[in-house]
Amino acid sequence: MTIKHIAILGSTGSIGVNTLDVIRAHPNRFKVAALTAGKQIDRLAQQCAEFKPAIAVVSDADGASRLEKLLLEKKINTQVLYGPQALVSAVTDSGCDTVMAAIVGAAGLVPTLAAAKAGKRVLLANKEALVMSGNLFMQAMKEGGGELLPIDSEHNAIFQCLPPQFSKTPNPSLGVEELWLTASGGPFRNTPLEQLGGITPDQACAHPNWVMGRKISVDSATMMNKGLEVIEAFWLFGLPLEKIKVLIHPQSVVHSMVRYRDGSVIAQLGQPDMRTPIAYGLAWPERIEAGVAPLSLTQLAALSFNEPDLIRFPCLPLAFAAAKAGGTAPTVLNAANEIAVAAFLDGGISYLHIPVVVEKALNAMPVVNADSIECILEIDTQTRKVARDFI
Ligand code: NAD
Ligand code: MG
Repeated sequence: MTIKHIAILGSTGSIGVNTLDVIRAHPNRFKVAALTAGKQIDRLAQQCAEFKPAIAVVSDADGASRLEKLLLEKKINTQVLYGPQALVSAVTDSGCDTVMAAIVGAAGLVPTLAAAKAGKRVLLANKEALVMSGNLFMQAMKEGGGELLPIDSEHNAIFQCLPPQFSKTPNPSLGVEELWLTASGGPFRNTPLEQLGGITPDQACAHPNWVMGRKISVDSATMMNKGLEVIEAFWLFGLPLEKIKVLIHPQSVVHSMVRYRDGSVIAQLGQPDMRTPIAYGLAWPERIEAGVAPLSLTQLAALSFNEPDLIRFPCLPLAFAAAKAGGTAPTVLNAANEIAVAAFLDGGISYLHIPVVVEKALNAMPVVNADSIECILEIDTQTRKVARDFI
């Protein structure tokens, strides 16, 4: 067995910690080449002490000197770097062959693109990167010649349900008709509409089935997460938007499905535990122990499926509209949503104002071709300013 060398972008987050959990159980298969974090220096220092990466990256100089000091005390000789360009070095200079892209939001875009261009196996959790720059990213993957494995549970499920030849040659004779993305509906699926205005950040982050970072938890509550995932599926699997459907499935057991021409529907089921898609991506095409409890179907009360309520979840139609508009519209959707969610988490706006900010930004910003990284980053910056002004 050849050992894989892994760089984890965002190692201190929910996906990062779960990735290290899988890696820890397979020391003969995986070595950690690089770890990166934003501000959680103590946690990163512990991770470096345990996994001894060649490179560790943090956001700023202060964090870097704190980390260096901690690593000196522990006698760990990991090289410490900081800043956005250092995230790229973690990918290109650490000797890794596989990159877990698990920084949240637009901050993950540039290093994830670097991994694509460098021909790494990219384990893609950072859906925002694909939403902002789907065309460029897929092109970079193609040019780099590496493997792209989706980690988002729905897309990982669809990847598992598609025929193996699918991604290489999208071929009508394979009979793929529709992709069905499942969504739990989040914590407010049944909350009376008149109570939605008073929702607090902690209520929004208390997801019924999954434990995740705060930004994606709010996105799950508004269902913007599913909107971003529709765009993610569009780029990953190359099917027209009309063939990508969303179904509310409160139990989060069926992670997504593919409907075929002959009447078959193939689903992937499992516990709501991200270590399953993470282990799948790390070991593909092999399957390894992920530390996940076996699914017991007889202990499940029921599995149910409904159409999403677009009045309750206005972020979902906004995402569909941005996807349909194409070009930089999804970049605008993503940037405005990041600003609105951050403002909600800081107590600056109410829960119901999140879609209002996103809609205003979509109306204010022109749609142009998303054909260069400079153009995408410029639209992202402008949108953040516009969204902050509305707030
Ligand atoms: P999280 O908030 O728990 O972790 C985010 C990580 O990114 C942390 O390590 C943090 O230090 C780092 N980070 C944040 N801002 C940064 C910046 N400006 N520069 C450098 N590093 C920065 O988030 P998460 O829940 O682990 O999600 C990570 C990504 O995976 C997101 O894009 C999310 O949509 C996606 N995802 C997560 C889950 C899940 O179950 N958590 C499921 C599917 C997809
Ligand atoms: Mg998901």
